[in-house]
Amino acid sequence: MNSFKIYLARPRGFCAGVDRAIEVVRLTLKKYGRPIYVKHAIVHNKFVVRELEKEGAVFVEDINEIPDNSIVVFSAHGSPPIHYEIAKKKGLKVIDATCPLVHKVHREAKEFVENGYFIIYIGHKNHVEAIGIKGECEDKIDIIETKEEAMNYIPKSNKLALLTQTTLSVDDTREIIEILKRRFPQIVIPKKEDICYATQNRQDAIKKISKICDLVLVIGSNESSNSNRLREVAEKHGAKSYLIESYEYINDEWLKDIKNIGITSGASTPEILVQKTIDYLLQKGGEEVIELGDAIERIRFQLPQI
Ligand code: SF4
Repeated sequence: MNSFKIYLARPRGFCAGVDRAIEVVRLTLKKYGRPIYVKHAIVHNKFVVRELEKEGAVFVEDINEIPDNSIVVFSAHGSPPIHYEIAKKKGLKVIDATCPLVHKVHREAKEFVENGYFIIYIGHKNHVEAIGIKGECEDKIDIIETKEEAMNYIPKSNKLALLTQTTLSVDDTREIIEILKRRFPQIVIPKKEDICYATQNRQDAIKKISKICDLVLVIGSNESSNSNRLREVAEKHGAKSYLIESYEYINDEWLKDIKNIGITSGASTPEILVQKTIDYLLQKGGEEVIELGDAIERIRFQLPQI
């Protein structure tokens, strides 16, 4: 059997927004009893969703499916204002688990629109976070995803403002912003960038690991934007990389002739899935586990009133 070293990215896994959202669901269940409803996957991880379902949470995609006068938790990714209006009409009690860093972007979007700006939003058009922000702006927003779109963008106003999704690739986004700034020097950009600290720190750590590893495994769900970005960043920095839900998806062929394997996990992935992956790899030739990365995260967000 081939032997290899395992490099573990630090930080990895849960961010403060995800920790808070999961705690909000558990505290809501404790206070109100089952069932409580959760609009959208509370965080983009199937393992977390299944665990909370067992505890009594009912996940729905369409707010109209929720029976009137129920308790509902809104997911960490943020919601368009229309969902709060519908909830009010249906007599739902809303407990809002939107990450405060997503809330910040909603506030910026609202303020820009109120001040007559047209927003260019860098993000993934179908991602629930982007849909929430779009809802703040009605027709005063265009969403772009790529450098090509930035180069070909035809502005609809000369008063432009720029916002971004919180979980994008830091490097790709910087390049798109540079193109937009070059093309529209008057574009207004928020003082503090929208890509969040957790996205930045996890990408910084995986860059270091990717330079010394032949293979990088990102543990996370396919729907998780930040997990997908981690896989892309790993590949850009020289490693073959796979995004997998858990160790059960590892193909042993990937481990042939490998010297160093890197492991990280998305901001919505529980640590248990990483530990199980390490246990599996130790049985398959892993000899040593080395943690790499400098950032220490101490951020905690206040809970909403429940
Ligand atoms: S990834 Fe960032 S924006 Fe998203 S929930 Fe975590 S801290 Fe908040």
